[in-house]
Amino acid sequence: MLELRPNCELCDKDLPSAAGDARICSYECTFCSACVDDVLHDVCPNCGGGFQARPIRPRNAWRDGTGLVNDPASETRHRSSYSRDEIAAFVGTIRTLPPAER
Ligand SMILES: [Zn+2]
Ligand SMILES: [Zn+2]
Repeated sequence: MLELRPNCELCDKDLPSAAGDARICSYECTFCSACVDDVLHDVCPNCGGGFQARPIRPRNAWRDGTGLVNDPASETRHRSSYSRDEIAAFVGTIRTLPPAER
């Protein structure tokens, strides 16, 4: 199940489960859209993959056992272990390749 992480790993902005600006890579690394667009240029600093909008999990259990009432968002905040300089260097080597060719 997708882990709905509570913050941007780079700038620490809160990204509650209904946030429209949460972005995730295939490993669920989570960032805000401003960091993805302006700093990361669609390159995950942890895996090199691209990003997609994080789907919003419904609050209600429209089907048994589903929804935030049964599967709440994570409360574990993640922070990148890479410095801004390290991220810029990494992104610079990869960003010209589209995600499907990385
Ligand atoms: Zn951010
Ligand atoms: Zn990643």
